[in-house]
Amino acid sequence: MIPRFKPTLGIQELLAALHPARSDDIEQFENDFAHLMGQKHALAFAYGRTGMIHLLKAIGLENKEIICPSYTCIVVPHAIVFSGNRPVFVDCAEGGFNMDLDKVEKAITPKTGAIISTSLFGYPVDLDRLSILQHKYPHISIIQDCAHSYGAEWNGIQIQQAGIAAVFGLNISKMITSIFGGMVTTNDSTLFKKLSVLRNQSSQKVNRTKSLRRFAYLLSCYPVFWEPIYGLVNWLERKHFIDHFVKYYDELLIDMPDDYQEQMTAIEARVGRANINHYFDRVKSCRQAAHMYFDRLGNRIDMILPPQIHGATYSHFVVRVKDPDYWLKKATRKGIQLGWIIEYNIPEVQAYGCHSPQTFPVSAEYSRSAINLPVWGGEKLADRICRLFEND
Ligand SMILES: *Cc1c(COP(=O)(O)O)cnc(C)c1O
Repeated sequence: MIPRFKPTLGIQELLAALHPARSDDIEQFENDFAHLMGQKHALAFAYGRTGMIHLLKAIGLENKEIICPSYTCIVVPHAIVFSGNRPVFVDCAEGGFNMDLDKVEKAITPKTGAIISTSLFGYPVDLDRLSILQHKYPHISIIQDCAHSYGAEWNGIQIQQAGIAAVFGLNISKMITSIFGGMVTTNDSTLFKKLSVLRNQSSQKVNRTKSLRRFAYLLSCYPVFWEPIYGLVNWLERKHFIDHFVKYYDELLIDMPDDYQEQMTAIEARVGRANINHYFDRVKSCRQAAHMYFDRLGNRIDMILPPQIHGATYSHFVVRVKDPDYWLKKATRKGIQLGWIIEYNIPEVQAYGCHSPQTFPVSAEYSRSAINLPVWGGEKLADRICRLFEND
């Protein structure tokens, strides 16, 4: 079975993992990452969400309203809550996946401390409009959630260049992976110093067992995503046997993983650093796959294709269909795993108050209709997938 996502892992990552630990493994990864992103500083964390919590604290925000999308990964508002602040949700713009910036402006109050702007699925946020907002409200910090926006550009400017800082996710579903992990980048040296102090004070050193577990996890990634084996993995996932590894939230709780305050392990840092070498090819694969999907699926009447936008990377190629379950099952029969990407509208989730779908109608609609096609294999894989659907 063709997996919905697949980390790009080669022999380099394996060798990096096996390499004896050095005291500066994490720092080296941070330096290389900062360099790649064109930023002065980068700081590694156990998860992207941990970086977000520390960043909000380092900026000095407490008891503030933090504006974030209603349609994004649920770990983002969790991080806001854990930082001692309150999320204020804003719906997507009609026809796009990012926040509606008119609605962002309407959501601003004297208590607003920051705006977390996400370039969802690799669609660049409108940096011109964000910059107008920043001039109008200079005391509000703009944070870029770059978990999906690796390589995404607005008028030739990469998203992480705008705003006070950017947060990246590095788990195995992201464009660059360090197995788990997250990164914060910034050009602001004062903020960077505060963030380093906060992180170093609160983060506990990891024990050897965890490093071994991470190594085992990495090793398992090589066979697990292999097509002949992946059918079994998919079956186990559907039967909820591997929830421990794949389920990342609980409808009822605003919580964090047990190890969220720990440091990134040295083995993760070495793997992440090696994985940077695959980055440009990876971005290219996503774009090529997306263009093939636009060409070949553009005429279908049973799915709504996502917008085609210059500067987008299509980290996820998200189409909208009437009945996602029907499509997921149909694809499974054809040997393709489609993803049901962000199948929730956060304000509707019980932990965030069970708001009615009408309150955030666009994201409510997306959460009920969005599925994603694999992009990790570039044109070759996209062609295979198109053919499977064309022979239908
Ligand atoms: C992956 C992701 C993050 C960070 O997730 P972690 O699991 O905490 O590393 C943040 N925002 C979005 C939109 C994401 O997809």
